[in-house]
Amino acid sequence: MKKYNFNAGPSMLPREVIEATAAQCLDFNGSGLSLMEISHRAKDFQPVVDESVALFKELLQIPEGYSVIFLGGGASLEFCMIPYNFLEKKAAYLNTGVWAKKAMKEAKLFGEVVEVASSAESTYTYIPKDYTIPADADYFHITSNNTIYGTEIRKDLDSPVPVIADMSSDIFSRPIDVSKYGMIYGGAQKNLAMAGVTFVIVKDELLGKVSRTIPTMLDYRTHIDKGSMFNTPPVVPIYSALETLRWIKRNGGVEAMDKRAKQRAEIVYGEIDRNKLFKGTANVEDRSLMNLCFVMSDEYKELEQDFLNFAMKERGMVGIKGHRSVGGFRASCYNAQTIEGCEALVACMKEFEAKH
Ligand SMILES: *Cc1c(COP(=O)(O)O)cnc(C)c1O
Repeated sequence: MKKYNFNAGPSMLPREVIEATAAQCLDFNGSGLSLMEISHRAKDFQPVVDESVALFKELLQIPEGYSVIFLGGGASLEFCMIPYNFLEKKAAYLNTGVWAKKAMKEAKLFGEVVEVASSAESTYTYIPKDYTIPADADYFHITSNNTIYGTEIRKDLDSPVPVIADMSSDIFSRPIDVSKYGMIYGGAQKNLAMAGVTFVIVKDELLGKVSRTIPTMLDYRTHIDKGSMFNTPPVVPIYSALETLRWIKRNGGVEAMDKRAKQRAEIVYGEIDRNKLFKGTANVEDRSLMNLCFVMSDEYKELEQDFLNFAMKERGMVGIKGHRSVGGFRASCYNAQTIEGCEALVACMKEFEAKH
């Protein structure tokens, strides 16, 4: 049975990316050595980092004055590095879900945290829009895509202070105006690469302003100065990111990724809205194009486990169980997800409807 991968993260990558990375793990650039067993300082590896940075800049049209670095520790380590590097007195956070809350928790260790708005009272089914960002905040932190709840801020916000965005689960899915951000970061394992590397795009002039001493490894300047080579970087994950970036470029760049995301969402949300058995969980105007969350309609609640069994065991739909905090189903449709995969999911939902 053909498998369709709807995992939320780590998640589906283009087959070409996996094959190219696997080949380099066996024999890196014809050297007779594996990518896993060469020095990150080997002259062959530097071009991997250089090309990855260059493709970040090209694909996202990153203006002058920003650095791109690759780190370890996941997006979760950034939750602490961000206030360490930028929070002097006060920071503003938009609370749109579990990841936003975790980011706020770390920031509170460093200074005052203003929660400008929250949708916690409705289990994060919408993106708050009516709020004021304090003009004296050091930065304003958002989670552009809420992987667990299936809501997304699919536009670049205006703010009186630098915007810092966790784009773990929607980076490279649409064109963004990087000049509107102070920093963009994320774990790579949703839309960019295998797990193990974190990307950071940071505006250089914002660094070095806090009065506290920053431990060397937690200071962004350390990694910028050494071109992500201060210590041993995650070599294989960075290589897989490079292959994904090449794939995005070959396939029309972020404009094309955006178009495909909209096509996929139309197919899947279209069926969620049409099929009497199911209903979406997120506010329609805030629906994520990356994580499409839905549940059984109230009248069919008792069929949840039956649908999961049917979809997963009989139709090859992998990873469509919703996050444990939300229940129901989640179809994650990152860049690598195919139209065919979405159509197969829809066919499976229709078939299940016909049986009931
Ligand atoms: C997955 C995820 C994280 C956590 O990433 P790690 O790399 O596992 O630390 C943070 N934020 C968002 C939006 C995510 O989807």
